[in-house]
Amino acid sequence: MITLQNIFLQYASNAGQVNALRDVSLNVAAGESVAIVGPSGSGKTSLLTLMGGLEKPTAGDITVDGVNISALSEDALAQFRRGRIGIVFQSFHLIPTMTALENVAVSLELMGDANAFEKAQQELYKVGLAQRITHYPAQLSGGEQQRVALARALVAAPRVILADEPTGNLDSETGRQVTDMLFALQRERQATLILVTHDEVLAARCDRTLRLKDGQLS
Ligand code: ADP
Ligand code: MG
Repeated sequence: MITLQNIFLQYASNAGQVNALRDVSLNVAAGESVAIVGPSGSGKTSLLTLMGGLEKPTAGDITVDGVNISALSEDALAQFRRGRIGIVFQSFHLIPTMTALENVAVSLELMGDANAFEKAQQELYKVGLAQRITHYPAQLSGGEQQRVALARALVAAPRVILADEPTGNLDSETGRQVTDMLFALQRERQATLILVTHDEVLAARCDRTLRLKDGQLS
């Protein structure tokens, strides 16, 4: 489902060039769950960003769901992501002026889905937020906001779910509830899950763990 071949990623910064990823190659099978762990700055977010087509590698090839995304234009990348990739961030990234329902429906609306709101409502039910659909993000707890973000990431039934430290801003009990939902929804959809985490207990719930250090897999 995901193949990276000899991936390099460099950022230009004021302090000079940063080699965020150095010669990373990996394969993830369809339906697999893979944890990525490593110290802060080791390249975990960079790796996820490449897999999601949000950034392009400096060198190397990336194939996701049969599409070689390393060569696509920005427009083609946006088109590629739509409905295929669901992303969950540590800090939720909900749109503050939209209700929970609108936050979940917006990507489907952009895809021209006539049933966007019905689907969004069903997805919010699945994450246990039936009573919160007209609430705004500021009116929701952190755990509830992350469940909205989960519903938003999954509502279009993506083949690939990318989660970047999704429990990083939550207490451990709330974090466990959110990850239980994440794994349950992944299994139900038979989606492929890449989960970045600092939490070894959480990583152990994935099929396998990849370790990054200084931009390299060990
Ligand atoms: P992690 O998620 O493991 O903490 P990142 O992938 O965010 O690591 O970052 C890897 C390295 O790339 C770090 O040294 C970081 O400072 C650098 N980096 C990340 N994003 C940028 C950017 N947009 N510009 C310059 N350097 C960056
Ligand atoms: Mg990171």
